[in-house]
Amino acid sequence: MAGYSLAENKKTNVLNSNKVQDCIIQDNMVRDSIVQGWLNNVEKQYSSHFDQRPEGTNIDLLVIHNISLPPGQFGGPYITDLFMGRLDPSQDSFFEGIYQLRVSAHCLIRRDGEIIQYVNFDQRAWHAGVSKYRGKERCNDFSIGIELEGTDNIPYTKQQYQQLVSLVIKLRETYPLIKDNIVGHCDIAPGRKTDPGPSFDWQYFNQLLAST
Ligand SMILES: [Zn+2]
Repeated sequence: MAGYSLAENKKTNVLNSNKVQDCIIQDNMVRDSIVQGWLNNVEKQYSSHFDQRPEGTNIDLLVIHNISLPPGQFGGPYITDLFMGRLDPSQDSFFEGIYQLRVSAHCLIRRDGEIIQYVNFDQRAWHAGVSKYRGKERCNDFSIGIELEGTDNIPYTKQQYQQLVSLVIKLRETYPLIKDNIVGHCDIAPGRKTDPGPSFDWQYFNQLLAST
């Protein structure tokens, strides 16, 4: 009887320790996807183009943008250069008009799906400009800005949709209020901004998000 009990205890302990192990692993996976405002396992470029959100701000909006530099060209270093404040105006005539802008976004998703993070999600990136969402102005205060490398008229890549969806899922774990508030820049600055443009397939994005 004693031997039986011992064996049973041993078995139970092993089971329990496996369960604990599983919980720890799962918990880390969730918590580790965003740690103190930064994504794990993506390239980070620490832009100085940010400041603090107003105190007590609830982050409850996600804004989707597009950008390509020079316009319509993909793959160069220039978007990062712009967000880092080091865009060289001699590289392209288009840059002369924008190289002094102090702008940023929290993340860029490149054509191949690579994500680069520039600004801590808990801090205010400078992506939306004059804007309004559900009566609230200055959307930078309370939003997260995601840039897709692209244009209003060239379809985005499958990798970009997949990465955007996985990014949204990670963000919702830490910032649950963004769940029903995902918009395009065009929606919060109508008449002034058109991105992410007709090339962004909202239906496909929403389907992918719902099924993931
Ligand atoms: Zn935009």
